Amino acid sequence: PVLIAGIDKSRLKSIAKREAEAFAAARPKTKAALDADAGNYLDSVPMHWMKDWPMPFPMLVAKAEEARLTDIDGHEVDDFCLGDTGSMFGHSPAPVAQAIRKQARNGLTYMLPTEAALEAGRLLTKRFGDFKWQIATTATDANRFAIRVARAVTGKPKVLVFNGCYHGTVDDAMVELSDGQTITRPGLTGQVTDLTTLAACAEFNDLASVEAALKTGEIAAILTEPVMTNSCMVLPDPGFHDGLRKLATTYGALLIIDETHTISSGLGGYTGVHGLNPDIFVVGKCVAGGMPTAVWGLRPKLARDYIRYNAGRASGHSGMGTTLSANPMQFACLTANLAEVMTAKNYARMENGAERLYSGLKRVIEAHSAPWHVVRVGARVEFICAHGPLKNGTEAGKAHMPEVEATLHTSLLNRGCLIAPFHNMMLVSPVTKKRQIDRLIAAFDDILTELFA
Ligand code: PMP
Repeated sequence: PVLIAGIDKSRLKSIAKREAEAFAAARPKTKAALDADAGNYLDSVPMHWMKDWPMPFPMLVAKAEEARLTDIDGHEVDDFCLGDTGSMFGHSPAPVAQAIRKQARNGLTYMLPTEAALEAGRLLTKRFGDFKWQIATTATDANRFAIRVARAVTGKPKVLVFNGCYHGTVDDAMVELSDGQTITRPGLTGQVTDLTTLAACAEFNDLASVEAALKTGEIAAILTEPVMTNSCMVLPDPGFHDGLRKLATTYGALLIIDETHTISSGLGGYTGVHGLNPDIFVVGKCVAGGMPTAVWGLRPKLARDYIRYNAGRASGHSGMGTTLSANPMQFACLTANLAEVMTAKNYARMENGAERLYSGLKRVIEAHSAPWHVVRVGARVEFICAHGPLKNGTEAGKAHMPEVEATLHTSLLNRGCLIAPFHNMMLVSPVTKKRQIDRLIAAFDDILTELFA
């Protein structure tokens, strides 16, 4: 038989078909509602990523509470996707929901700060370290603005990213390696400029490839996640981050650390937990408890250099900032989330639950002798349908098994467990219950029993 990820392909196909049919059969109301009205949207979804779920059609969510979603057909599912990190602390954390209620009657946006903005600034510095902060609405924007500052201050043209990375819909980071050469990603829509004039690509965990790029003298900044989370998860080798920091300093490039996903690591993100020392710190998604908000901060010296760069230049149209950013609702949520949700106690809960999930999935994989592995970064757990550990983006790209992953996702969902699309990622929030974790492990076991029969 033909095997993919250790599974007989024809068996996989028949299970996939049965599970897709079971999903659809259980959701007549959803199907009818989508058939009636989804056509108003481009390709029938309000945001095209919603097409990337592996089910025959998306769920229509009626209710979200803690780490649970209910769809309009009445199916309750345990949510381990949590909005792909936006809701990592659970849906509508109570302090954030309360802050929203309070701000709701006091204006939603005025392009002026509030006292809560000052409080948020204090909390950001306390939580993430000595940076001069700016507020954006998405992590994409925060990264884009960080890159702009890096180019301004260094006068160099390129950003160095890692093969297989994702930092949002930031054009400058949309390159990859092909036969060792940086190329523009072929999937990019309507791309008309040659991105290799703006970016270079190196391999994660390969300091020699980083140094080779830096030696050109063209690199304004290295932009990286502490752990590669956007293909199959790749952990940094010991010494890799130290090496990056040293190389950046040696060659006069800035180090931008994008914590948008690795904020799962613990208090202060991976940077806080592992003592990284970025020049620019970026985090988005869950930082305000799910209210669209991102923050980026510059080290004080860099902030001074940037202010100096601006002195005497024509002002206006800096290419940074958006009209609704730094609005009072964001600050109400940011303050509530930083002070009352992103706490040591909650992170300890997440860590415990994620360790339970990690070891449970590992046990199941071993019991079935599946050629797979599991990786964890704090509250973030991922099973990978290939041997590990993975070393870099090239290996991570090859470790994707789309057919297997799609079948697993739908099968898990039919057993009441939602995991993130695009990868096999699961988040454990502070309100995720032990029994939800155990149900996911049992469902995973159930499916593997069939797949590897
Ligand atoms: N940085 C990282 C590491 C991400 O994974 C993402 C999105 N998955 C972003 C930035 C961009 O976030 P957003 O889509 O909210 O702009």
